[in-house]
Amino acid sequence: TKHLLARVTAHEALGAFLHTDPEASLAAATAADSRRAAGETGALIGVPLAHKDIFVTRDMPTTAGSKILADYRSPFNATVIQRLIDAGTVSLGKLNCDEFAMGSANENSAFKPVNNPWDAGRVPGGSSGGSATAVAARLVPASTGTDTGGSIRQPASFTGITGIKPTYGVCSRYGMIAFASSLDQAGPMARSAEDCALLLSAMSGFDERDATSVQRPPQDFHAQMLQAREGASAAQPLKGLRIGLPREFFPEGLAGDVNAAVRAGLQELEKLGATLVDVSLPRTQLAIPVYYIIAPAEASSNLSRFDGVKFGHRAAQYDDLLDMYKKTRAEGFGDEVKRRIMVGTYVLSEGYYDAYYLQAQKLRRMIADDFQQCFTQCDLIAGPVAPTVAWKHGEGKDDPVKAYLADIFTLPGSLAGLPGMSVPVGFGDGGMPVGLQLLGNYFKEGQLLHAAHALQ
Ligand code: GLN
Repeated sequence: TKHLLARVTAHEALGAFLHTDPEASLAAATAADSRRAAGETGALIGVPLAHKDIFVTRDMPTTAGSKILADYRSPFNATVIQRLIDAGTVSLGKLNCDEFAMGSANENSAFKPVNNPWDAGRVPGGSSGGSATAVAARLVPASTGTDTGGSIRQPASFTGITGIKPTYGVCSRYGMIAFASSLDQAGPMARSAEDCALLLSAMSGFDERDATSVQRPPQDFHAQMLQAREGASAAQPLKGLRIGLPREFFPEGLAGDVNAAVRAGLQELEKLGATLVDVSLPRTQLAIPVYYIIAPAEASSNLSRFDGVKFGHRAAQYDDLLDMYKKTRAEGFGDEVKRRIMVGTYVLSEGYYDAYYLQAQKLRRMIADDFQQCFTQCDLIAGPVAPTVAWKHGEGKDDPVKAYLADIFTLPGSLAGLPGMSVPVGFGDGGMPVGLQLLGNYFKEGQLLHAAHALQ
C-alpha cells in the first residue's frame, strides 16, 4: 500500500485519481495485516485497489465526475464497495471518470482529463478511464469500473488491460450512481482474467436493495474458470469451444491495425483448440440509435434528482424555486450531460414516445433475440472492442456523434444484458494496445474467463 501510494503521487499527471486519503489507506492495510495474522486466508485480504468515482463511499467524497456532486458525501457504501471491503481489500482512493459515466474518452470529466499511460497524448477510453489508467500504469493491481454501453471493455482495450462486464443483474447497482438503470453493470478491471475472476466473486451476488439483482447463490467465478478447463489437454484447453465471429463485427470501416491484432488473437484461440464459426448479428448498426435513445431516456429520468435540494451543489443566487433548479443544473452539469438530458426528455415526451422510445425498446428485444440465434451455433462470440486504437486528446471532442459511432461493437451486448470482456491481444498504430472482445450467453462468465485465461 505504501509503495503504491508513492506511485500514485509520482504519477499524478496521469489524472487517474480524483481523491486519495493515504492515512485511511494505511490504516486499512494495517487492519488487513491483522486479519492475516489472525489466520484469515482470503485471496483479497490486503490487496490495494481503487474505485471508479461513480460508486458511493462513506469515507471519501463521491462526485461521479460532476461538479454538481463536488462536495457530496454519501452516508453509506455501495454494495460492491462494501463487499470488497469485507473481502479485505484496501482502497487507495476514487478514480476519475466521465461525468455520470457518459463518454468514451474520459474527456467529459468535470475535473480533469486522464492520460493513456502508453502515450500521454492519447485518451485512455471511457467512461472508466481513470480505472483503466490506474491499472495500466501499475498504480493499483486492479480497480472497479462500470459498463453501461462499453465503459469497462473499451478503456480496458485502449490501455491493454483485462476487464469484465458481467451479465446484467450479477453485481448490485445499489450505491452505483445511476446513468441508465436497465444497462448499468459494475465489474472489475485488472491485469489478468484470473484477477478479474477473484474480484468478481467478491463484488457480485444477490442484493435485496437492488430490484434487478439476480437471485442466486454466491458464485465462485475463479472455480468456474478453472472447471471449464477440466478434461481438456494442457495444449488445447479450448478444445470443443465454438467461437462465433459475427460478420458485422468486421466491417469495411474497421481499422487495419485493429483487424490484424484481433485476427492474431483469433488464431491464437484456434491454436488453443477453439473452432471459429461465422455468425451474424444483423442489427449491429441499429444498436447505436437504439442505445442513444434508451440510455439518454433513462438518464433524463435518473438525473432529475440533482435539483440543488437533496445533493451536492446549489446555485448561490436565485429568484424562486424554479430559478434555483435551473441555475443549479445549468452550473452543475457539463455539456454532454445536458445534451443527453435534452435528448432523453425529447424521446420520452408525448407524441415522440411511440416514435422513438417504444421503437427502440422493440429493437432492443430483437437485438437480444439475434444473440440467442447466434448462441445456437456457438458458445462465445468474438470480435474487436472498438473500431480503432485510443485516439489523441481533443480528437472527437467536438463531435459527439463520431464518439457514439465508435461504440458500435460494445453496445449490442449491453442492450442484450450479456456478459462481455476485453482481453489484450496485441498492438496497433502508434504502439497502442488492442483488445479482443469476448461475449458469452447469460451467466456464462466462467466460460468467458476460461477462454480469456487460456489466451493469457
Ligand atoms: N460510451 C458510451 C456512452 O457514452 C458508454 C458509456 C458507459 O458504458 N458508461 O454512453
